[in-house]
Amino acid sequence: MAITVVGSVAFDSIETPAGKRERCLGGAATYFSLAASYFTDVRVIAVVGEDFGRRQEAVFEARHIDTRGIERATGKSFFWEGSYLDNLNEAKTHATDLNVFATFAPKIPEAYRDSEFLFLANIDPVLQRRVREAMPQARLVAGDTMNYWIKDHRPALLEVLKGLDILLINDTETRMLAGNNNLVQAARAVLAMGPRTLVVKHGEYGATAFLRGATGDDVKLFRAPALPLEEVVDPTGAGDSFAGGFFGYLASQQEITPVSFRHAMFYGSVMGSFAVERFGTERTQNLSRKEIDDRFNLFRELTHLD
Ligand code: AMP
Repeated sequence: MAITVVGSVAFDSIETPAGKRERCLGGAATYFSLAASYFTDVRVIAVVGEDFGRRQEAVFEARHIDTRGIERATGKSFFWEGSYLDNLNEAKTHATDLNVFATFAPKIPEAYRDSEFLFLANIDPVLQRRVREAMPQARLVAGDTMNYWIKDHRPALLEVLKGLDILLINDTETRMLAGNNNLVQAARAVLAMGPRTLVVKHGEYGATAFLRGATGDDVKLFRAPALPLEEVVDPTGAGDSFAGGFFGYLASQQEITPVSFRHAMFYGSVMGSFAVERFGTERTQNLSRKEIDDRFNLFRELTHLD
């Protein structure tokens, strides 16, 4: 099953305790697509500027990601600058320049229309909603957001949440969105905003799924660990790579069952663990399915009881 994703395709300048990179290829939709591409066909909707060249294009091509929905506009691509000097689990944002995204009107290529899976990666919720409305055939819709949009674009974001099956955000964002510091209470409040399932990412500590039952009161929990790593080079894109592994795996399955959902949570953790091993997309763009499955088995060993 193919996935269409809308979100930022960007240049990032990043500083971590392991070093610095200027203007490397980044963006939520970029990390998501690369991770999901190991599981299923991926189609991207985004806009880039004149600074996006053959080198960046080739990264998508090498993973057979459909880029017909990436529009080229006059101006500069989305630019984000962040650092992780005090805390590897949370980026400190120094600059967010929307550039060509500020005036982007997404157009969906005809060839994308049969996508049954839709992922609304991190970007202006107004754009997320437009793409959702333009793709009514999508059977499963998941999405992400971040503090930037939660703080200053709340009404538009609440509209997006109403149309989501699955929301994936980190714990700080969950607390911020709900206005409640207790994670379980915050998760319940977020589930009441629309999504049936909330996946809360805890950075180096894994991720927890909160699944709303039929009555709304019974919420089931499932937690996937993260892999303890000796060195985290660059946490940028870990969340988007988790989402790509998670949603890509779900899209590759005949049916979504409690078991395939739990496997998807582990594949999310697997892709997140690769993402942080090198700067930018360096690791995620150069994996093999065998490396991915080997690491999945390592996660199994890490957690199995009997
Ligand atoms: P994460 O997976 O949360 O580490 O996402 C990192 C990516 O999000 C970076 O590659 C940035 O380009 C992108 N990003 C940062 N801020 C925003 C924003 N406000 N909207 C959309 N994408 C963003």
